[in-house]
Amino acid sequence: MALSSQTIKKILFKNNIVNEEEFSNAEKESLRTNIPVQRLLIAQGKITQQKLLELLSAFFDIPIFNQATQALKLEIIAVLPEITARQKQILVFDHDTVKNAYKVAMVDPTDIETINFLEEYLKGDIEPYITSPDTLKFGFQLYKRRSSENFEATIAEKIREVKGSLSSEQENILENIPLVELVDTIIGYGATLDASDVYFIPQEDSLKIRFRVDGLLHDVISVDRSINDGIVARTKTLAGLRIDEHYKPQDGRFRYKSADTDLDIRIAVMPTLFGEKTTLRLLAGGHSFLTFEELGMEPGTSEQLQKALKKPYGMLLSTGPTGSGKTTTIYSMLYLLNTPEVHIVTIEDPIEYIVPNTSQTQVNPQAGITFASGLRSFLRHSPDIIVLGEIRDKETTEISVNAALTGHLVISTLHTNDAPGAIIRLMELGVEPFLISATLNAILAQRLVRRICPNCKEQYTAEPSVIQEVQKKLGLTQNQITFPSILYRGKGCSLCHNTGFQGRMGLFEVFFINEEVRNLIGTRGLTLDALRKAAQQQGMITLFEDGIKKVAQGVTSLEELLRVATE
Ligand SMILES: [Zn+2]
Repeated sequence: MALSSQTIKKILFKNNIVNEEEFSNAEKESLRTNIPVQRLLIAQGKITQQKLLELLSAFFDIPIFNQATQALKLEIIAVLPEITARQKQILVFDHDTVKNAYKVAMVDPTDIETINFLEEYLKGDIEPYITSPDTLKFGFQLYKRRSSENFEATIAEKIREVKGSLSSEQENILENIPLVELVDTIIGYGATLDASDVYFIPQEDSLKIRFRVDGLLHDVISVDRSINDGIVARTKTLAGLRIDEHYKPQDGRFRYKSADTDLDIRIAVMPTLFGEKTTLRLLAGGHSFLTFEELGMEPGTSEQLQKALKKPYGMLLSTGPTGSGKTTTIYSMLYLLNTPEVHIVTIEDPIEYIVPNTSQTQVNPQAGITFASGLRSFLRHSPDIIVLGEIRDKETTEISVNAALTGHLVISTLHTNDAPGAIIRLMELGVEPFLISATLNAILAQRLVRRICPNCKEQYTAEPSVIQEVQKKLGLTQNQITFPSILYRGKGCSLCHNTGFQGRMGLFEVFFINEEVRNLIGTRGLTLDALRKAAQQQGMITLFEDGIKKVAQGVTSLEELLRVATE
């Protein structure tokens, strides 16, 4: 159900997007990695997803399905079972009851077989629209939300079963089937909601189950605390931890598979006053990667970043607070750089995703592997690209700068608020300004904002007084930044659990270190203000400006931008 690479080739050639060699290289890479050729070309910056859709749309004379302007309604999507929609890569998004015509977003709108099937199945006319696989993925999430509505009732039922079976037979807790099902239900529900963490927190009189979704904590349910020992035993068993050890912290990992989820789960168990507290971190098991644009980057910013990544040596830093999505962005860079010709090594803490054909090492102080020692020993293995999880002290800074000076491309993260701030931070870490000038290629800063739920999105006009207040809060003088007068927000609905949001995206700024900035870095008494000014003169779009763009596009709300901007 994907477009054939021949069709893509024909269209790209016709529009002079790639040449024969570039296409056949991408095709080879596609065979090796099993990633569709158009996705690779997008990742390589040869074409944007939007441009490709426009070309396909013009070529086939079929309109584009635009998720940003189209509210998705579950009752319409659900005319097709989830499994069929996923298999055929289609989404029914509108039904004209007068004409009895269904509008269907498709990855391959030329797939006549599927269109015939839909006409039969829906007993109506089909109007195909073209879309990208990622837009569809977002729509598919709506199916999942529906299946989770009965969670509380299911949990209550399972807990009754667990308690009943434990008191009656005194059977081995590990073979208790209701207990196994209870833990499965909770993990499965967490996966359904795209939770990144599931917490079991014993309190004085209850066991609190909490999920972290889109970076924020939600109390999901409180249950009888007596169930905690069973849950701890079950999760420890899955990860092969000691179940008779209750007074020491333990951690491990296990694979969780069900009908439609495949997760790599990290577990940490901690003794607390009221019993052991368990935290599960859910990581997607597949090797999917996102392009810069899918992460939320504007095409211009993505271009700057790709330009910086093309340099075979030097340093590229990603900055932002914990939880700002730095790691995901670095993995996207890795996938982009991961070609057979280069040797990539990483030192991470923790390793979050497996990247094929690279050497990834986990920091392990007990075994003597720290960021610094790992980096030192890796340098002896002649890598081309080194990814260092974090630059956090003088020692790691010094080795990184040396590696960048001696012909390696070093990618790492740093805790600063914005991109220009990273230069000051490097100086504080003891790097001589001339070394910064000589090695730094670019600095990326980022934040995550929540996306407005497409199901309950509404438009409204901003009161001038509200805008003024916002300007005041941010310390902006009038006219420094133009705020959009039409704003968007999510009213809250059952699909987004009344939060008005679904999923997240990044705000980005890329500070490209050009000749002028290099000269500036060498000047005496360099200030952060001077660096910011230089960035501005270079045309850098700041995090906040990027955010305002996304507010104007209706992807996120002004309140959400303010929350992130003032954090
Ligand atoms: Zn909603």
